[in-house]
Amino acid sequence: MASGRLKLTGLHPVVKEAAEWCLAWADYYQVPVDVTSGLRNWQAQADLYRKYRRCLQSGEFGRTARCRYPANRPGDSSHEWGLSWDSTIDPHYQAWWDEVRRAVGFEVLSYDQPHAQVPNWRSYV
Ligand SMILES: [Zn+2]
Repeated sequence: MASGRLKLTGLHPVVKEAAEWCLAWADYYQVPVDVTSGLRNWQAQADLYRKYRRCLQSGEFGRTARCRYPANRPGDSSHEWGLSWDSTIDPHYQAWWDEVRRAVGFEVLSYDQPHAQVPNWRSYV
């Protein structure tokens, strides 16, 4: 079973339903998925952005587990609008998981694999 499902709470209802659809596929094939992030407030996004900036400044970005993923500025993240969610999966299943999320309409970014967002989300906010 997927873990972290409660983190989908507060997402846009259509986004939440699509995310649940993806998790249902993972459950069906008994592939463990961990939902790691959903809706964020300004402060949570600001904290992530600060960490990301520190990773860039130290040269650690992309080289360590804690500095693996980018973060947008607070006020400019699809997470703050409930239009994206993050999930992690065993790397063996990553390509499959990308296809599952794309099949339901999410945009999946090559440089931020956990992240799935509504394509062109800025045009809706
Ligand atoms: Zn994300």
